[in-house]
Amino acid sequence: MTDSQAPARADRRAEIAAGLARVRSRIADACAAAGRDRAEVTMIAVTKTYPASDVVTLVGLGVTDVGENRDQEAATKAAQVAAAGVAPRWHFVGRLQRNKVKSVLRYADVVQSVDSVRLASALDAGVTAIGRDRPLDVLVQVSIDGDAARGGAVPDSADPDAGLGAVTEAVAAAGGLRLAGLMAVAPLGWEPERAFARLAAIAALVRADHPQATELSAGMSGDLEAAIGHGATHVRVGSALLGMRPTLR
Ligand SMILES: *Cc1c(COP(=O)(O)O)cnc(C)c1O
Repeated sequence: MTDSQAPARADRRAEIAAGLARVRSRIADACAAAGRDRAEVTMIAVTKTYPASDVVTLVGLGVTDVGENRDQEAATKAAQVAAAGVAPRWHFVGRLQRNKVKSVLRYADVVQSVDSVRLASALDAGVTAIGRDRPLDVLVQVSIDGDAARGGAVPDSADPDAGLGAVTEAVAAAGGLRLAGLMAVAPLGWEPERAFARLAAIAALVRADHPQATELSAGMSGDLEAAIGHGATHVRVGSALLGMRPTLR
């Protein structure tokens, strides 16, 4: 580090600390409003487009969980963060191609975006191939509006690859995977309240068949209150913590 970089780094730390304080108080307020215990909700800092140094800063401020949505960026960043001596829990939250499974398994503790039987099988095979000592935590991504084109397994669909029932069964049956719960993004143009109410109903149905699927990852910078109101156990927050990203991705 040169002298000229030091003030910028201190500023960045203050900026992140302020963002974190705001998000933490929003989560606490939303829990209070919903009559929920604050300890039921984990914040995942989504650090895509931001550097490894921001992840290290977040961990220094008490953040335990980090999310990324692109393998190439995440693999590099996770290695840099590990080299800095900190070890957050890494969640992969983006669309995952089967040819990236091996790479993702090197750093991910949780994959939140499993939305097909084929992807579940590839992850299970990958876990076996690398000799992972315990099953990989998986959330099945749900398409709240049933539009499979934007990702997510489709509720009420008998599709053998992308139907929600088929995907949850495949994950639950895979020895290398643990079905931890569901993940979703509110569809564009939907009121968050309506989207997360529907998600909560879907989650209740999944839990009737798979009681272990207790986690619900829903809510981002713009709609975390509505998600917490409808039972989210994990909120995935990027821009409210770290600032607006230069490009939408
Ligand atoms: C980018 C991203 C987030 C965070 O979005 P913000 O609006 O910046 O909080 C959450 N979930 C997923 C899947 C993402 O890709």
